[in-house]
Amino acid sequence: MKLFYDLHIHSCLSPCGNEDMTPANIAAMAALKGLDVIALTDHNSCKNCPAAEYFAKEYGILFLPGMEICTLEEVHAVCLFPNLEKAMKFDEYVYGRLIPFPNREEIFGRQQVYNKEDLPCGTVPNLLINSTQISFDNLWELVRSFEGVMFPAHIEKASNSLISNLGFVPPDSQFQTAEVKDTHKLLELKKANPYLESCQIITNSDAHYLQDIQESIFTIEVEEKTVEGVIRALL
Ligand SMILES: [Zn+2]
Ligand SMILES: [Zn+2]
Repeated sequence: MKLFYDLHIHSCLSPCGNEDMTPANIAAMAALKGLDVIALTDHNSCKNCPAAEYFAKEYGILFLPGMEICTLEEVHAVCLFPNLEKAMKFDEYVYGRLIPFPNREEIFGRQQVYNKEDLPCGTVPNLLINSTQISFDNLWELVRSFEGVMFPAHIEKASNSLISNLGFVPPDSQFQTAEVKDTHKLLELKKANPYLESCQIITNSDAHYLQDIQESIFTIEVEEKTVEGVIRALL
């Protein structure tokens, strides 16, 4: 079965996420765009996932709680979890390993947590776009220990990507899926990084604005339309 997906979306919890990116607005836009499955992946935080899951369900959209982690090497990677419980435990684990640098809203933007009425109910004090003490080398095992799956984000980007920051894809990597935004670069990327030949390549929006949420163009093949089904398809 094929599902239209967007597995990398930021909400207004990410300081760089537009304030219109509330959980209810994201779910409504995903429904409008005809997506079957979405994931909310704010920088180093899952705290808007409970509200986003609630609204996605309202619109009949399959929802995966997630996070875009920034590793010690400043590599961005998307981590997705089978349920809110695992996601929130991972959130706690990561927040304790994030550089404790207070957010300055006037410079970086607000980091707003929303409730199931789509109203702001708090903010996160430390700046979420900093790196964590978690290294990319350990990330796969770590995320698997929370029953989730990880894929490196926007690997072709000139900053905050696996290839830009490490210089290459480590041949002993374990991830099975990689995110490429500009698929024109795929051949070149695979040539320079043979590891990618055996990977499933996916394209997500990395939306920070509502209009950028993915159109229903890319599909992912799953055995069943469940959260577990999507995680298995990425393993
Ligand atoms: Zn990123
Ligand atoms: Zn992102």
